[in-house]
Amino acid sequence: MSEILSAKPVVLALKNNLREEVAKLKDAGVNPLLGIIRVGNRPDDVYYENSIIKNCESIGIETKKYSLAEDIEMQEFTEVLKQVNDDPSVHGILIFRPLPKQLDEDVIKYLIAPNKDIDCMSPLNLVKVFEGDTGGLVPCTPAAVIEILKHYQIELKGKNVVVMGRSLVVGKPLSMMLLQENATVTICHSKTQDMQQIAKKADIIVAAMGKAKLIDDSYVSEQSIVIDVGINDDGNGKICGDVDYDAVVDKVKAITPVPGGVGTVTTAILLKHVVKACRQSLKN
Ligand code: NAD
Repeated sequence: MSEILSAKPVVLALKNNLREEVAKLKDAGVNPLLGIIRVGNRPDDVYYENSIIKNCESIGIETKKYSLAEDIEMQEFTEVLKQVNDDPSVHGILIFRPLPKQLDEDVIKYLIAPNKDIDCMSPLNLVKVFEGDTGGLVPCTPAAVIEILKHYQIELKGKNVVVMGRSLVVGKPLSMMLLQENATVTICHSKTQDMQQIAKKADIIVAAMGKAKLIDDSYVSEQSIVIDVGINDDGNGKICGDVDYDAVVDKVKAITPVPGGVGTVTTAILLKHVVKACRQSLKN
């Protein structure tokens, strides 16, 4: 029987710890607060925003919404961002992406205050990930992968980990964070040859390609621990991962489900980063 690495107990443990930390901060007279900047009214964004607000409330984090018009110009957007950056009552900032065309993300990522950048948009935070500096705010999805592995006490030191995908949001930073945990990391991508053989030999496989159900039983062994980062449409209106869950679930040592795996933990990591940013603001 393979072990199902479900998000539920990970999120529960994370939230219990955070609730205590938030209470301590409040006792010290500080109210952790997340500023959410949403441009336009895309239903997915509004849904995600409501779910983040509910999650924040469940552990005592306050939120402040900045709902901006879809056609907002760059200058006005940067003025709002500067105001949020400079507001000492805001500890974390989340900007929903993708932004509309007129807003240049390559400029904005340099404008967000790095100490409030809970989703690691700023290159300054990304550099810290590559430097192994744990003082910064790391990207949430890679952090969720590490959180799951640690929660289930899966050893990383000296283990062979294959990361499939080399994007700047998932694959690359995750590979650096795994290195930091003393894993031996192989990064695969769309031009990698013979990925099946590379994956079969690994202790841990992380699939982050955005290719629905690509990983079937030809990529795994009975010893594989499979972490599925993918969030894809399965063609029938349902969400599925990069791993063909039904085809591999009985053939591996452990596996994360989709939904109910990495994505669910990622939302809880956002909260962890707000609390970290709040705690660090007290030192300044
Ligand atoms: P991306 O498109 O930016 O990058 C995909 C990467 O996969 C690229 O580096 C590419 O080289 C590689 N790749 C593509 N096809 C491949 C193949 N056949 N074999 C090997 N490598 C291949 O995607 P992304 O933003 O990194 O997201 C990846 C997946 O993770 C998507 O399904 C996305 O929805 C999901 N995602 C999940 C979360 C979460 O919270 N769980 C967060 C972000 C992204």
